[in-house]
This record gives sequence, C-alpha cells and structure tokens, in this order.
Amino acid sequence: MPNLLTDLDFFHLDDLLTPEERATRETLRRFVQREVLPNVERHFEKETFPIDLVPQMAELGIFGANLKGYGCAGMNNVAYGLIMQELEAGDSGLRSFASVQSSLAMYAIYSTGTDLQKQRYLPEMAKGKLLGCFGLTEPDHGSDPGGMETRARKDGDGWVLNGTKRWITNGSIADLAIIWAKVDEGITGFIVERDAPGFTTRDIHGKFSMRASITSELILEDVRVPAGAHLSEARGLRAPLGCLTQARYGIAWGAIGAARSCYNCALDYVKSRKQFSRPLAGYQLVQNKLVRMLTEITKAQMICLRLAHLKDQGKMRPEHISFAKRNNVNEALNIARDARDMLGANGIVNEYPVIRHMLNLETVNTYEGTFDVHTLILGRDITGESAFE
Ligand SMILES: Cc1cc2nc3c(=O)[nH]c(=O)nc-3n(C[C@H](O)[C@H](O)[C@H](O)COP(=O)(O)OP(=O)(O)OC[C@H]3O[C@@H](n4cnc5c(N)ncnc54)[C@H](O)[C@@H]3O)c2cc1C
Repeated sequence: MPNLLTDLDFFHLDDLLTPEERATRETLRRFVQREVLPNVERHFEKETFPIDLVPQMAELGIFGANLKGYGCAGMNNVAYGLIMQELEAGDSGLRSFASVQSSLAMYAIYSTGTDLQKQRYLPEMAKGKLLGCFGLTEPDHGSDPGGMETRARKDGDGWVLNGTKRWITNGSIADLAIIWAKVDEGITGFIVERDAPGFTTRDIHGKFSMRASITSELILEDVRVPAGAHLSEARGLRAPLGCLTQARYGIAWGAIGAARSCYNCALDYVKSRKQFSRPLAGYQLVQNKLVRMLTEITKAQMICLRLAHLKDQGKMRPEHISFAKRNNVNEALNIARDARDMLGANGIVNEYPVIRHMLNLETVNTYEGTFDVHTLILGRDITGESAFE
C-alpha cells in the first residue's frame, strides 16, 4: 500500500506556508496515518463513525480551530484549511464530522448566540465533550432551504418547535442540534438539546456514500425549549447561509486531501502494474490521466491558499467560496473516478481507498450547495441575473 498521505507540491506552495502552518499539517497527517487509516475501511463497511477519535481530535485543537476565545485554538484560515485537507485525505466522513462540529454548530452559536450561550456551549464543544449537528435540510427542501416547513411558535417564556429535518450529519450522536425554523418574522435558529421531550432522531441506512459518517433524520414534535435556547441574533436565511460559507471553505480544502490520496494511490499502482509489455505508467493514455490529476490538484491548492489569505484579510466573498467548493469538489470527484478506472478490477475493492473516496465525493458534490447551485450563484454574480427560479 503506498503512502497515501505523501505530499504533492508541484509549484512549491509550501514556501508560502509559515513553519506553524506546516507543523499543523504534519501533526494532522501523522494523526490520520496512525489513527484513521488503519480502521477507516472497517467503519465504512459497518456504517459506523470512529467516535473514539473525538478526544484526540479535541486535543489537536480541531474543533472550532479558527475561532477565537472560548477554549478554541484561534488558528488562521490556512492552518484550518490544512487540517481539513488532511482529515479528508483519511475520509470525507471524518472531515464532515469536524466541519459540522466547528463550522456549522459551533459557528452558529459563535456568530448568532448570546454571551451566555457561547460560554455555556463553546468551551465544551471545543473539548469534544458536547457534539453538535446542524438541521437545515428537510425532506422536501434541500437546495431551497427558504421553503422550510419547520415552525417555531412562542409559548409563554419559551418556544415550541415542530418539523422534520433530514440528511443531518452527526444527528443521532449529537448532544445538541442547531435547528433552523420559521417564525412570524422569518427564519431563525434554536439550540435543541438531545433530551428535549418530543425530539427524536432516526439514522439513515443503506448509504453507498459517507458510510463512516452518521446521517440522521431529526423529528421535532411539540418540542418545548426555553427562551435561552433561541439564537436571537439569527435573523433570516442569511444566518444559516453564513455558517454554510464557513463549512464550504473547509470542504474546498478537504476535497484536495481526498483527491491527493486517489492520485498517490493511482500513481503507485500504475508504476508497478504491468500489462502488455511494460508498466501501465509508461503508456500515454495513463500519463494523460496522471497529468490531468496533477494539474487539477495543483490548481485547487492555489485556489485554496489564495482563498485562505483573502479570508484572513476579511476580503473573501461567499462567491469566492462557491467558486472554490464547486471547482475543487468536482475535480476531486473526476480524479477519484479516473483513479478507480486506472486500478482496473482492484479499483472496486476496499484494499485500496479509491472507491471509498469516490463514493464519498458524490455526497460532497451534493451537500453544502450542489455543483449546479454554485453555478447559479456564480452566474448571478457575473451577470446580475438570477437563474434560480
Ligand atoms: C451524507 C449527507 C450529509 C448531509 N448533511 C447535512 C447536514 O448536516 N445538515 C443539513 O442541513 N443538510 C445536510 N445534507 C443535505 C444536503 O445539504 C442536501 O442534500 C443538498 O442541499 C441538496 O438538497 P437535495 O438533496 O434536497 O437535492 P435537491 O435540492 O432536490 O436537488 C436535486 C438536483 O436538482 C438540482 N437543482 C436544484 N435546484 C435547481 C435549480 N434552481 N436549477 C437547476 N438545478 C437545480 C440540484 O443541483 C440537484 O442536482 C446532507 C446530505 C448528505 C447526502
């Protein structure tokens, strides 16, 4: 088995990283090598999430890594992106777990919560002692979350929530759910703790993708929450979309990790596999695929590094994220499909990581704004015309 985590740095982009950023990446790479890769195929096969890794992930400062205060590591966005890249070189499910905990659940509280809510939840979430999930999608409302049917109504001091959320990462293992619901004034958010009466979860099975990640349905039947559970600064769809921007940033980086693993695996394979007179690596058609992979991974790295610098300087726009998420995930998926092809029959078994990455990337292409939805966002940005409806 090749070293799947071998670096790929054709344009010496490492020269643009600080020693701290490189050290963060190396630490994560060792963690993935030592703790993730030996067991990930078993988790994928059994549809389980490696929850035993949570304390170590917390120890590494992964949760809320780029948030400041509340026990979070306060890293810059390059370091945060590199963390996501290395996690996804292991498995997209692991990166999804970290993205949801950090950029969706913690960030929702960080950006729209009261001081009391932040003090109560964020330090425990940074330690991995409290896990979060993010309930936006519903059975009938995915790309258009503004159509959501989940409702919250005021009742005395508190609120009562009713509705169903579907496709929720970490749903049944989370201690708290960020629930987006409609009130008279529009869309807002709530923190619903798992033991709230009327709140139940049901895991979705039979997935061919993201099998090492828990995906659930959340059912809210007259769930009563206190006034203190309301994210009162969350006003309108812009609040959950702001969280999605953070998560999509990590996805753009993460996709590079999955693509790199597939490339390393395919390169190693074609160098040693002989068909007809010589190793597959000596044939032009095979080299064409390798060169395309190298090119797209390198372009994706450049996009992400520039994106990180824009984000750190406060100059990043959501459209930049759409560009990066759309391109990098789509190219990672193409790379995974090519790598699977290059491994021939061996490309369909779990002795190699390629088909697992390929199947996972089908989800990554769909969630957090599909490829086509990001096309619509960019199309609107450059023409001024919305083609959504
Ligand atoms: C494993 C997994 C984990 C997930 N985790 C979460 C989570 O933690 N929290 C959460 O809230 N959600 C989560 N999701 C849901 C995910 O965000 C949605 O699946 C996604 O937004 C797409 O919605 P949909 O599946 O309803 O597809 P639809 O919106 O029905 O789209 C179907 C197709 O139609 C296309 N389409 C939609 N609108 C248009 C249009 N206007 N013009 C042209 N084409 C269009 C789409 O691009 C897509 O190809 C997860 C999904 C998966 C698979």
